[in-house]
Amino acid sequence: VDMQIDIVSVFPEYFDVLNLSLFGKAQSKGLVSVHAHNLRDWTHDVHHSVDDTPVGGGAGMVMKPEVWAECLDDLLGLEPQDMSANDDADSTAAPAETDGAAQETAASDALQDAQSGNDLRTPVHTPDSVLIFPNPSAPLFTQRDATELSHAKRLVFGCGRYEGYDARIPAYYRAQGVDVREYSIGDYVLNGGEVAVSVMLEAITRLLPGFMGNPESIVEESYTGSEALLEHRQYTRPAVWRGMGVPDVLLSGDHGKVDRFRRDEALARTDAIRPDLIEQLDCARLSKADRKT
Ligand code: SAM
Repeated sequence: VDMQIDIVSVFPEYFDVLNLSLFGKAQSKGLVSVHAHNLRDWTHDVHHSVDDTPVGGGAGMVMKPEVWAECLDDLLGLEPQDMSANDDADSTAAPAETDGAAQETAASDALQDAQSGNDLRTPVHTPDSVLIFPNPSAPLFTQRDATELSHAKRLVFGCGRYEGYDARIPAYYRAQGVDVREYSIGDYVLNGGEVAVSVMLEAITRLLPGFMGNPESIVEESYTGSEALLEHRQYTRPAVWRGMGVPDVLLSGDHGKVDRFRRDEALARTDAIRPDLIEQLDCARLSKADRKT
């Protein structure tokens, strides 16, 4: 198997759908193997409780570190460690800030890489095993992250619920030398991490060699390549439908003209819809014709 994926959730049945469609095929082809684990299997009390009230007060419940750690130690093959001997482990510190900074550095390295024109399909850093927690208050998950993670051998996802998980969980595993990532999939709040994990998993695994029927279809896509532009619009037959024609140039058979038209459209649409992506472009690398657009 090229990539082993473990998902920890209080609703592991949610991931039964992964047996369907392209993902199901990828599993039977041996490209990926996925195991969804029930976090409650690592509880010892009769109620199988995984949450407790927030320290400092406030609404809702927070996922307990002990249960998560028993589960993650098992999956990652780690022995429990007492962090009180570790100078860096100040239980009163806000670990999220330093952790966020470490992740930001990796992201900015990747960005520099993009700006220097390196193909984002071959990241400088190839992760081996990565522990990922979806979290709405974390850096945004992008195609760049999907590309990097598609090179990992093992991904372990931890789905949060309620008000989220105790912040010491990612901090502890990072201190154990685990490559830990926290990602938001967008500026909105979901009930749990399951949907977010499904989104990330699909974005990552469709990049695995052999996953897509036609490998060409992932080469020219939005957010992809060193420029990460939005794609041009797509049309199929008939050439005229309900009185609406496709752009004439697409019927011209002139590949040079078609390429130019699509490139102009990609640049113009990105500029109009996602000016932030245009700002990240290295304009010196644009051709004269590009700059006209
Ligand atoms: N109290 C948290 C906050 O305000 O940031 C929200 C917790 S949310 C209700 C519960 C869980 O859903 C989170 O721990 C996370 O795993 C997942 N989640 C919710 N929204 C998400 C998003 N936009 N991206 C990634 N994960 C999300």
